[in-house]
Amino acid sequence: MGTERLYYTDSGLLEFTASIAEVLETPDATHIVLDRTAFYPTGGGQPNDTGSINGTQIIDVAEDEAGRIIHIARPAGDSVLPSLAGKTVECVIDASRRLDHMQQHSGQHILSQAFVQACGAETRSFHLGAAASTIDIDLQTPGDEHMRAAEEIANRVVFEDRPMRVHLVSEAEAARLPLRKESAVQGTIRVIEIEGFDWSPCGGTHAGRAGQVGLIAIRSFERAKRMTRVEFVCGRRALADYRLANQSATAVARQFSVDRESGPASVERAIQENKSLKRRVRELLEIALREEASRLLDQSPGISTTGVPDSAPAEFKLVQSVLRDRDLEELRMLAWKVVEKGPSVALLGTNDGSSARLIFARSADLPFNMGALLAKACEALGGRGGGKPEMAQGGGPNLANLEAVIQVAAAQLVLGIDPHGSRSSQ
Ligand SMILES: [Zn+2]
Repeated sequence: MGTERLYYTDSGLLEFTASIAEVLETPDATHIVLDRTAFYPTGGGQPNDTGSINGTQIIDVAEDEAGRIIHIARPAGDSVLPSLAGKTVECVIDASRRLDHMQQHSGQHILSQAFVQACGAETRSFHLGAAASTIDIDLQTPGDEHMRAAEEIANRVVFEDRPMRVHLVSEAEAARLPLRKESAVQGTIRVIEIEGFDWSPCGGTHAGRAGQVGLIAIRSFERAKRMTRVEFVCGRRALADYRLANQSATAVARQFSVDRESGPASVERAIQENKSLKRRVRELLEIALREEASRLLDQSPGISTTGVPDSAPAEFKLVQSVLRDRDLEELRMLAWKVVEKGPSVALLGTNDGSSARLIFARSADLPFNMGALLAKACEALGGRGGGKPEMAQGGGPNLANLEAVIQVAAAQLVLGIDPHGSRSSQ
């Protein structure tokens, strides 16, 4: 026989006595069946109550197939409950958790009916989560206007503080009620009425009046599985959510020294400003790098290409330089600026304090393989790198070797041209 459910008719009952009908001990928990209980077991989208039985914490409550409600305590070991089988015990339900669940679940009934009235969208499922709750509604093209309309209707019902009642009816009686959805149970059906607004079969714990639900707020919505998932918060959760949202909005506005409502416009302006500044910085960087490339070329020796097969220019400039604290992108741009000015090779390095980075590049009219040259150089830096014949990049952790590695690469390049030595035109 199923446990008598005291919460069915009185969801405000938080302290009660009952007698222990059965105790079952498993290695990690004690399962207690009472003759009657006000503890709500997980089901219908609503999580279980918690609380205590004779001072022992009840961490979970479930219902078995026979309709018995199982109160789960942990750990087994030192619990006094097994010795109390058949005795009367004092039971206490965690009031704030119960109130929270009542607010979310009653809020769901109100919101579900509000969606029916606002846009004909039926609720297909409900989940009461630890932070926020969701309903999946039958709405194909959801918009802000649907959300606002349903929110308006729902909160009007709250502000009118409509009475909410529990009815225990037969199937025949239920058939005559304007139920929002069909009942899934047989025999006696429990129906929750929100006066003049909604009738729904439900086994959950509900508020006595709509006012107890508090504010009903839709946080967000998204399309999911050909339905619309609506995330909402009610009562104390709505208050907590409002505080958080207000705090965030105020913090953003304070950064701009504007009032809270002007925050988004200020952020938008800052983003636009940032974009145009980035563009301007890039333009100035281009100018600066072009100048720097010219200077490097002026300071660099010309190397004869005599002895280089397939080389069109008779001479090229060999630029080698180690630059302090340059980012890789900037170094790459500088290398391009060098090699686009004429026959040249750029062997550039930088050191950001933790690793050494290299960019090797050459103009299109030279046959050297920068990828192969750079791979060797990176080995000496204790790292890796590579790329194409025209340009390659890499690096390694041995900062101290950076200058030497570039010198060696330059020497290899020059020696490779003519085994009898190089000839500088400077
Ligand atoms: Zn319900």
